Amino acid sequence: MIKYLLKCVYKHEFESWFSNSIEYDKLKKRNLIECIFCKSTEVEKTIMSPYVVGEKNNRFNNIPEKRKFIKIKKDLKKIQKFVEKNFEYVGEKFAREVREIYYDNKKNKNIYGTVSSKEKQELEDEGIELASIPWIKDKEN
Ligand SMILES: [Zn+2]
Repeated sequence: MIKYLLKCVYKHEFESWFSNSIEYDKLKKRNLIECIFCKSTEVEKTIMSPYVVGEKNNRFNNIPEKRKFIKIKKDLKKIQKFVEKNFEYVGEKFAREVREIYYDNKKNKNIYGTVSSKEKQELEDEGIELASIPWIKDKEN
């Protein structure tokens, strides 16, 4: 279940539950979501990242946990900035670039990029250890 905070064109705010974000989109398309105060169907979600609540996933009901999550997210952002500043982005060529650095000792640079799980496994088999950090996309904020 997902709880969205909705807001109509007249700035009435109300909460509504949906089984998932797809259900919300479907209902929205058919104009079936209406403001509980004025019945306007011009309703928008006001939060980008909804709280996901389920039996196994209700940690956000717990405020200190939520704070911790926000702090971790902030720390990750810091690491991300550091990487972006000090590492060269090689994108999907990452696996190839890593091998070049690993096997050619003359080369020494910091790189970051993306690997498929298959590539990651192959690199690990060759003894190349990768550090992975969860990457936060700006649009998620
Ligand atoms: Zn309204």
